Formats: sequence, C-alpha cells, structure tokens
Amino acid sequence: MTLSQDRSPSVNTRIQQSVEVDTHTHPELEIPTDCPIRFAVSLKGLTTWKVGGAAEWYLEPRTLAETQSGLAWARQNGLPITLIGAGSNLLISDRGLAGLVICTRHLRHVNTQFDNETQSISADAGKMVASLAWQAARRGWGGMEWAAGIPGTLGGAVVMNAGAHGHSTQEILVSTDVLNLDGSIETLTNQDLDYSYRTSNLQDGSRLVISAKFHLQAAGDPEEIKARTFRDLEKRHSNQPYDRPSCGSVFRNPSPQHAAALIEGLGLKGYRIGDAEVSTLHANFIINRQDAKASDIRELIYYVQSQVKAKHSIELEPEVKMLGEF
Ligand SMILES: Cc1cc2nc3c(=O)[nH]c(=O)nc-3n(C[C@H](O)[C@H](O)[C@H](O)COP(=O)(O)OP(=O)(O)OC[C@H]3O[C@@H](n4cnc5c(N)ncnc54)[C@H](O)[C@@H]3O)c2cc1C
Repeated sequence: MTLSQDRSPSVNTRIQQSVEVDTHTHPELEIPTDCPIRFAVSLKGLTTWKVGGAAEWYLEPRTLAETQSGLAWARQNGLPITLIGAGSNLLISDRGLAGLVICTRHLRHVNTQFDNETQSISADAGKMVASLAWQAARRGWGGMEWAAGIPGTLGGAVVMNAGAHGHSTQEILVSTDVLNLDGSIETLTNQDLDYSYRTSNLQDGSRLVISAKFHLQAAGDPEEIKARTFRDLEKRHSNQPYDRPSCGSVFRNPSPQHAAALIEGLGLKGYRIGDAEVSTLHANFIINRQDAKASDIRELIYYVQSQVKAKHSIELEPEVKMLGEF
C-alpha cells in the first residue's frame, strides 16, 4: 500500500511548542468510558534514562479499540499526541509533555506468529525486540541475533530502524500495520518507509505502529543461533554500561567516523554535568549516575557537540529523540 497523503504537522513537533504542563489543575475534559486515559502521569519511570516530567494525559492501550478511542478523544479535544514505546531512545523534558501521551508497550494482544512457509514472524508493537530475537533463536531462525541487547519495543525498532553490528530492522522488515491519527489502518511495506541509518519516515510521529512482519532465515541450528545471540549480548555487556540508566548511543555515527572515538579522543569520558556523565566505559553513552535531570543530560549533549565541533568541525547529530521544551 502507499503512504497516506496526510502531511499535517508532526505531532511531536506540536508538543515541542507546548507550554509547561500544569498537572495541578484538572481540566474539565470528559474521559471516554472505553479508554483508560489518566491525568498527570509521571513519565520518569517509563524511560530508560529515568528522567523527565509528567504527561498531561496518558494512555497505555491494551487493544486496538482503546488506541483508536484515545486518538479520537485527543483529536476532538484538540490535544497534541506523543507516541512512546519502551522509552529507551527518549529524552523527555523535566517540564513534561502537554496533550496525550500514548505508550504502546502493552499493545501486544495478539500472540507472536511464526509462519514456516514464508519464514516470517508477525508480532504486535508492544513486543520487546529482545524477547522476539530469543524466541526466533530458540526455533533456529536466524537474522535477529543483533536485537537481543536492544531494550525497546518492536514499534520503536520499526520507527528507529534499530540495529547493531552492521545489521538493522530494515533488513528483515517485510511490512508494518500502522494507525493513522484519524483512526484508519494502513499496511506499509519496507519500501514505503524510506529507511536509512537509524531513520524512517515514521519518525514524524504521524502514524502509530501496531504490528510488524519480519522475514528471517528458518531451518538453522537453534544451538548455533543461540550461541551467536549470547556472543552479541556478552560483547555489549563488556563494553557498554548496561548497569546504569542510559539511552544507548546518544549520537549517530558521522560516517566514516565513530561518535564514541571522537568523544573519547577529546578526553570527555567521565565528564559530568549534574548527575549526567559521559560513560567511562563507552563514550557515546551518557549515564544517569543517580539524580540527573533531563536538563543536565541536554546540557551535556550540547557540551559534547560543541567540543567535537570546535576540534573536528563535525556536527554530532543526536540519535535520541528529545521531547518537550528544554
Ligand atoms: C542500553 C541500551 C542499548 C541500546 N542499544 C541500541 C542498539 O544497539 N541499537 C539501536 O538501534 N538502538 C539501541 N538503543 C536505543 C533504543 O533501544 C532503540 O532505539 C529502540 O528501538 C527504541 O525502542 P522503544 O520502544 O524504546 O522506543 P522509544 O524510545 O519509546 O521511542 C523511539 C521513537 O519511536 C517512536 N515510537 C515508539 N513506539 C512507537 C509506535 N508504536 N508507533 C509509532 N512510533 C513509535 C517514538 O515516538 C520515538 O520517536 C539502546 C538503548 C539502551 C538503553
């Protein structure tokens, strides 16, 4: 199917123009009975960086019907909509997010389906990609070994074109079912998504991924694939700070250079602003030592960018998505 022609402004862009969320006064909005929308929900625990303010309105739909109802409600009330998955690639402002935040991590009402004939897996947006990778490995299906260390949902992986060790979602995605903000459903193919390094056109926030289908290589040896998956995971654990809150790599690699090498070369490992620190293990990670604020992390990102620019004339571009006002 082709992409919808709707070119309305990105929902996330509209959020960034919003004012600080006032979570003390409850606005007079009627909540639909078929949709568990909540007021003033902290988003801090819903991101892997463990920072950020509250969502003015928050919905964690478990079904497609709840999702559609939430979208319709936000539209009727003229509210901006922000989509989040497992929050593993997000920096959410301490000032919170106005409008409705829809978190798709519990959108996994259909069981993962393995089709032996087409060698494909279909799963819902809320499925964790790491768990999908292990399920595939146990069956002897190869092609997702790289995903075992990625702490995000399938929806987030499709949108971000998540990847590692030279592989990415783009290689295995056949198609994805998305919900347009008007509630209609479309099936988009791999070619519809304009994939390139860590990007897709779904990043404009105008479509909610509800499920996806991946093509893998069936008929492998489960023990061999599990061993490969373990090796990938072990490698990460040895050179990335998995024990501290982070968002993975903060910057895209400015090909052919590596962001981590540029940052390390400037002696910035261990550099801190507040409780935000450039990891001493991997220079492209910023960790929250304990009580970092989103603003500390934002400042540290600016600082690193300015140092790399001054020394190498290279503009490091953040891979993480920043939501709200900083
Ligand atoms: C320790 C660690 C290691 C990491 N390693 C890697 C790595 O090796 N490779 C890599 O690519 N990434 C890595 N990441 C980053 C992150 O895990 C990926 O980008 C992941 O794909 C994000 O998925 P998510 O569900 O957390 O999405 P979120 O972070 O919640 O959202 C990311 C983007 O996707 C959008 N989105 C999320 N779900 C949906 C949906 N259902 N519909 C529409 N839009 C949606 C959001 O609006 C946002 O723009 C790492 C992160 C951490 C913390």
